[in-house]
This record gives sequence, C-alpha cells and structure tokens, in this order.
Amino acid sequence: MFHTIKRITKWAQEYKKRLYLGYICSFLSAWFVAAPVMLAAWFLEKMTEDYNGTSPLSRAYIWYSAAGMILAIVLRFFFTYWKNRLQESIGYEVAAKQRIEMGDVLKRVSLGFFEEKKTGDILTAVTTELSILELHGMKVIDSVVNGYLQVAAMICFVAFVSPAAAAVCLAGVLLSALALHGINRQSAYTAPISHKAKEELSAASLEYIRGLAIVKSFGRAGASFEAFQKAAKDNKDICIRNEYGFVPLNCLHLFFLKGASVALVAVAAFELMAGVLEFPMFLMFCFFSFSIFGGVEDINDAAHILSVIDKVLDKLEAMKKAPFIDESGKNLELQNSEISMEHVSFGYQNREILHDITFRIPEKTTTAIVGPSGSGKSTICSLIARFYDVKSGQIFVGGHDVREFTCDSLLSHISMVFQNVYLFHDTIANNIKFGKEAAEREEIIKAAKKAGCHDFIQLLPQGYDTVLGEGGASLSGGEKQRISIARAILKDAPIIILDEATASVDPENEALIQGAISELTKDKTIIIIAHRLATIEQVDQILVLDNGKLVQKGRHEELIRQEGVYRRFVSVREEAEGWKLV
Ligand code: ATP
Repeated sequence: MFHTIKRITKWAQEYKKRLYLGYICSFLSAWFVAAPVMLAAWFLEKMTEDYNGTSPLSRAYIWYSAAGMILAIVLRFFFTYWKNRLQESIGYEVAAKQRIEMGDVLKRVSLGFFEEKKTGDILTAVTTELSILELHGMKVIDSVVNGYLQVAAMICFVAFVSPAAAAVCLAGVLLSALALHGINRQSAYTAPISHKAKEELSAASLEYIRGLAIVKSFGRAGASFEAFQKAAKDNKDICIRNEYGFVPLNCLHLFFLKGASVALVAVAAFELMAGVLEFPMFLMFCFFSFSIFGGVEDINDAAHILSVIDKVLDKLEAMKKAPFIDESGKNLELQNSEISMEHVSFGYQNREILHDITFRIPEKTTTAIVGPSGSGKSTICSLIARFYDVKSGQIFVGGHDVREFTCDSLLSHISMVFQNVYLFHDTIANNIKFGKEAAEREEIIKAAKKAGCHDFIQLLPQGYDTVLGEGGASLSGGEKQRISIARAILKDAPIIILDEATASVDPENEALIQGAISELTKDKTIIIIAHRLATIEQVDQILVLDNGKLVQKGRHEELIRQEGVYRRFVSVREEAEGWKLV
C-alpha cells in the first residue's frame, strides 16, 4: 500500500513540497479535532468538583473553555483549509503537465509505435487513465497518509491519559490494516483484469464510431454493434464481480475499527472502576470512541483503487520510455532544399518494402513518383518526413542526414498535403493557422484566397470562425483539400510533398484544387505522388517505382520512348482519363 503512495508522491514531481506541507497541516488539524473534547472533559471535571463541593465552579472556567473550543475549531479549519489548498490541486496540475508531455512523446516517436500499440490504448492512457490519477491520486494520499496521521495524533492524546486504552486503539488499527492489506492484494489481482476490460471497451467504442459510415452503408450495423455491446457487458460483469470480491474484506476492516471503539470504552470503564481514571476522562473516551477512527474508516475505498493507480503508473511510465526517434536531433536551418536518397532499404515490421532506392531531387524542381498501388510511393514520402527510420542507407534534406534534425525542425521545412485530409474540430481560421501559429487574420485570408477557399468560407454562417465537425466532417472532400492547401501555403515551407487527388474529384473541384496547388508550389522543391497525366508530363523528373524498386528515372519524353512500367502506366491512365498521348 505504502509502495503505491510512494509512487504517487514521486509522480507529484515538483509539487512534492506542497504534499509534505499538507501532511503537516493534516496532523495539526487532527490535534485540534481532539482539543475541544479535551476541553469539554476538563470543564466536566471542574463541574464535578463543584458538585462534590471540593472546589466551586468559577465563571472564568466557562469563558476559558468556550474560548479554547472556538480557538481549536478555528485552528482546525485553518489547517484543514491549508491541507486542501496545498494538496487538492496537485493531481490536476501534474495530469495537465503529463498530458502535454505525452503529446510531445507521441509527436517524437516513430509511427511504428502506433502499429505496436492500439490507438484505443493510447487514448485511454491520455484520457481515462490520467483522469484516474488526476481525480483519485491526491484523494488516496488524503485518505491513507492523512488518515493515519490523524489517527496517530488521536492515539497520542489517548496515550497521554491512558496507555492501556491507547494500546487497544493501536491494536484495532493494526488489525484493520491487515484487512486493508487483503483488499490491496485482491485489488492487485483484479486491477489488470478490469484494466484490460476497459481498454477493450475503448478500442471497441472507437472502432464502432469510426466505422459507423461503412457499417451503415453495408447494412451491417447489427454485427458491429454486437462487438461493442459485448465489450460493454464484459466490462460491467468484471466490475461487479470485482466489487463483490471486496465486500468481506471491507466488512472485516470496519469490524476491527468498530470493535476497537467498543474496547476503548470498556478499558476506560474498567479503569474508572479501578479508580485509575476520573469520570470526566471516562466521558471524554466515550466521546472519542465515536470519532477516533474516522480518518481511517474510509481507507478501504482508497485501498481498492491503489492497484488500479499502480497499473496506470506502470503504463504511463512505459509510454514515457518510448524511444524518441529524434533523441540526438538538432534544430537545423536549411541552406538549400535539395533532397536525396542513397541506397535506402526499408520495411514495416519484418517485410521489406523498399529495396536499395537512390535518387536526387535538385532544389526548386518538381519530381513525380509514379507506380502501381502498393509499390511504395507513400512510404518514400513518409521516410523523407522521417515518420520512420530507414533500415539501411541515408536520406538527405538540404545536405543533412534527416537523423541530424529534431522532428519539429525537419518538419518545419516540409509541408505535406495528403489525399485524406484531417481537419480539427476547431474554427476554419485555426485549422488554416495550424500551418503558422502566429499568423494574423489577413495572412489567413490571403492564404485561403490563394487556395481558392475564401469564397465558400465566406458563405458559411460564421465565416472563418465556423467550427468544423471532427475531421472536417461538415465540408466536402474538395473543400477540405483546399483548406489543407491553404494551411500549407501559410506555412510556406521550402519543400512540398503532395499526394495528388485521384479521379474521384469532380471537374470543377479538380480545376480549383489545381489552381490552389500551383499557388502552393511556386519556387519550391516538390514531390508529387502523381496520378494525372497532365501533372506527370510537366514535371522535371519522374521516379517510377515497381514493387519497392526504382525501375525508371527521367523526364516524360525520355521515359515514354522506353519499354517498361512507365509506358504501361501511361497507357492505363490514358484509358482511365479518356485521352491519348500523341
Ligand atoms: P497506393 O498508391 O495504393 O497509395 P503506395 O505505392 O503509396 O500505394 P505504400 O502505401 O507506400 O504504397 O505501401 C507499400 C507497401 O507497404 C504496401 O504493400 C502496403 O501494404 C505496405 N504498408 C504501407 N503502410 C504500412 C504500415 N503502416 N504497416 C505495414 N505495412 C504497410
């Protein structure tokens, strides 16, 4: 139990000092919980002396005890207030910091990391699991550490008057701690099971929501909903079973504490009869017996959650240890924007996809990558942006090996425009501004005009301040693509990697997108995963890929004269586009 408390304390990082000060306040507050009872007992003693005729009751005693009680109550609330002020916000502060740290980790790991881990797992770690720590971390500390500190303060008080009664209290606390140990062990067993059930529920929910459009279009809503329903039911069953498992140990924990309260009164009664204890002190113990264990009675709730917290901490620590792809990278400025690959081979997991690729893309030229589906075109682009590391060979950007850069600095020189555009659930202006955080409204509008999206944005209810649905759900494919081009225009990076839209775009949209692209690509080094013949014909260099190998390289006029993949590719495109090359 205290091992997890130690880990939570370590998790609190630079807020540790506040945590320790909070413990001191908690201990002091417990003393002032006991003080009014002590004063009441003292006053009762004076009343008894008056009643027995041994010493008359002075009015001053009433004032002293009333003033003492008020002071004790004020001090108790003062220390409780400071304990809460110091400790309660720590969970939220550390969790907020860690979410940002995790965001940074995710940004700097290889994309291979996301293939090893399910997105649902990562999502639960950053949201639900950090929330467990955020909400319960400090509460657990409050229950366990402050609970024991308070009971220790109370037992010190009792020991001052009656060591035997204090020993009985201590025995009750120790026995209840045994039951808590049992709860902790039970929780260590159940936590991984319920953790797994929660991860599966998150993954099933994510899968269900993401695939909803496909599921509906194939009329398979029933099948997909079943997996989600099963995960929800399994999670419920596991949680209920776990809770039932805790009931006997919870009862045992309370039984020892309540038993110790009764034993405290019994010991006090025996000592009263033996003349060791005065009647007012006996009454004080009777009052005490109700509240002495209050601080530790609720620890069983905290003990349930300790192993869950342990598991969460394990997972967060493991995620933080994920190797950064740019560990030794530097922030480099580019002298030029030439790109080259030298003998690059690469594979996902154990399957080699690219074999010994070598090419050079001179600065401010346009290079098209063509080839059959699955030949490795997108993979080449991902390697230039260093989403993954090569297996062998080297990639140079501006004369530097991409491994010399930090991810942020490399990507600050590259703009990527994908076919599947993702827009954030935010305003259109902020989505465009994503390309340049400090951009003014005029710059955003200028970029949007160049990208051909200003007119349709203005027709939206709140113009540039219209909030888009998640992923840009409220816009058409062509509109989303033009917004992503406006984003890239605003970023104004010297290298542009562009995945050209396939034939699915209608002619009007295609003309608009082409216009936007020509604005974006002026004076840049451009790599296009090309599908349209009109694009391919005009580029400075064509790289033809087949099955992960670079099979042809050159301009359209040279390649079209050669037998090979390029010629076949062109004739297929001619047929698809309905026109012929002369
Ligand atoms: P397309 O024109 O269809 O987009 P492409 O030429 O761009 O295809 P890539 O996307 O680079 O091809 O894929 C090359 C090969 O690598 C394919 O066989 C694909 O299945 C595989 N592949 C791509 N991404 C991954 C990944 N993340 N994990 C495992 N294999 C992958």
